[in-house]
Amino acid sequence: MSRFTASSVLLSFLSRQRIVPFCPLRRSLGGIKRSLKALPAALVLSAMPLTAAAQQLTSPSEVVVDKIVAQEHAEVGLLRQYSPLVETYIQHLRPDEQVGTVPNGDKYFLGRAELAKGVELEPLEHTVGLMHKVSGGIREFFSTQFVPRGFLQMIYLDTNGFDRQHYKIEYLRREFLGEVRCLVFDVDPLPYSGKGRFVGRIWVEDQDYHIVRFNGAYGGSSLISNYFNFDSWRMNVGKNLWLPAFVYCEEGSVRDPKTKRLAFKPFRSQTRLWGYDVGHAQQEQELTKLLVESSPGISDKTETATDYSPLQSQRLWNRQAEDNVVERLERQGLLAPHGEVDKVLEAVINNLEVTNNLDIQPEVRCRIMMTTTLESFTLGRTIVLSRGLVDVLPDETSLAAILAHELGHVVLGHGLDTQLGFYDSLRYDDKEIFRHFDVARPPWEEQAANQKGIELLRNSPYKEHYRTAQLFLEALKNRSKDIPNLISPNLGDRVPTSWTIASEDYFTESDEKPSANVIVALALGGRIAIDPWNDQLRMLKSKPAGIVAESEKMPFQITPLVFYLMRKTDNASSGSASGVAKLAGGTKP
Ligand SMILES: [Zn+2]
Repeated sequence: MSRFTASSVLLSFLSRQRIVPFCPLRRSLGGIKRSLKALPAALVLSAMPLTAAAQQLTSPSEVVVDKIVAQEHAEVGLLRQYSPLVETYIQHLRPDEQVGTVPNGDKYFLGRAELAKGVELEPLEHTVGLMHKVSGGIREFFSTQFVPRGFLQMIYLDTNGFDRQHYKIEYLRREFLGEVRCLVFDVDPLPYSGKGRFVGRIWVEDQDYHIVRFNGAYGGSSLISNYFNFDSWRMNVGKNLWLPAFVYCEEGSVRDPKTKRLAFKPFRSQTRLWGYDVGHAQQEQELTKLLVESSPGISDKTETATDYSPLQSQRLWNRQAEDNVVERLERQGLLAPHGEVDKVLEAVINNLEVTNNLDIQPEVRCRIMMTTTLESFTLGRTIVLSRGLVDVLPDETSLAAILAHELGHVVLGHGLDTQLGFYDSLRYDDKEIFRHFDVARPPWEEQAANQKGIELLRNSPYKEHYRTAQLFLEALKNRSKDIPNLISPNLGDRVPTSWTIASEDYFTESDEKPSANVIVALALGGRIAIDPWNDQLRMLKSKPAGIVAESEKMPFQITPLVFYLMRKTDNASSGSASGVAKLAGGTKP
């Protein structure tokens, strides 16, 4: 995408949003491409009404502010080409004597954004059957589409007048967010600049002046309005390209008596965005590689066994059905591409197989579903765990227990619908994915997999410690009525909370009592980091937390997340980043 098209897209967006009889902004943005490198000062001046420009000299900090404003306008225009997946998860809170606050009901939304249309969202629809499983109801809260869009809105600071005519933008200090050095500014709307303006603080990386984090609220915010406090993060996904990836939001306090007058219960929420480039880059690269490779020589294989028996054919067919579904889910941004987290899971599977003398052909593979909902399932011999589930598991033994259940399905031959081996079965509308693939298991298969899972665990090295796994399942069961949406799967099966891996008698013989400070489950977002561009996942590397207070454990809860920002150079995204205005010059306050 050329700079020119980025600018013109931006213009149409601005002019639709706000009709101004005389708009100097239009002229200045149209001029970015031609004049920027040679004459940065021209940009600064042309961003103001001509009369004002003639009278006023701009200070160094105003020059920087104007660069930030121009870059933010370019960002809004650039984002219009993307349709990321958007997931919003909300937890209401209530006070708890022992641990401070606990979840008290929740809401969940998953959809695809169409940023070309502003903050439009297309929900991924659930089956009627699944809707009934959700007590509390998704549709009750999200029926009008208003609220999910409200949360998506928080990826933008202000699409309609973020400039020096509407805001006082005051330099505060420098600060590192991870590896990225940032300039920090306080932002306040000027008097009479209109409602819904942003109030708060921005962090701006100091190379190209992208806003990488903003924390505050939209103005006119009051206890009864629907504007909430939020903390919005953008991540670098390649040279000069910063994309919205995470918004934390919180409103009301369980301790604050004023909260009782709110139109809603106190809550915390997290909105994640990913899949900006899913399904394009990889295939393109592969095809390019294929075209430049020379054609392979023809080999004579008549002597070796190259034919397939019916059994082998059936296995190949099943594998094909499995590959079809995995590939489709990956291209839709619901499964992460194969990566390091899968290898961690596969190592645990390997431990279970070796100690149980299992030789499963073709081999068992693991994948991660991108969503926060706690769920797991098998697609033939591919075991899928959700990111949210891996996030909250307290240790390797609890991971082994979940995987043992799924490996149970594999060993018992609980197969996949072989119709999925036909390619036409993959032609369906994206938003109907959850209706199309129903991979949830009947109760008797779940029961059998639980039984098999216990067998597999008892022969494994995990048998020494599996009280933690039992405690995790019990904690989830005890909490389940407060987080009905978190435990309602999008695609697969619920975590089997009523599964008793081992009775208390078993522990008294073979295991010590758990210490008082045991962490039975982690907070959400505790283990896995997401690359919002290509959906690659990696394990977080955080330092041990030391002593953890009871109120800090927060099992299954939403917490604010602070990201360690880095500049990326390895993604294939740098090409499409060229739409962002590269700002020359470097006057720093
Ligand atoms: Zn199962």
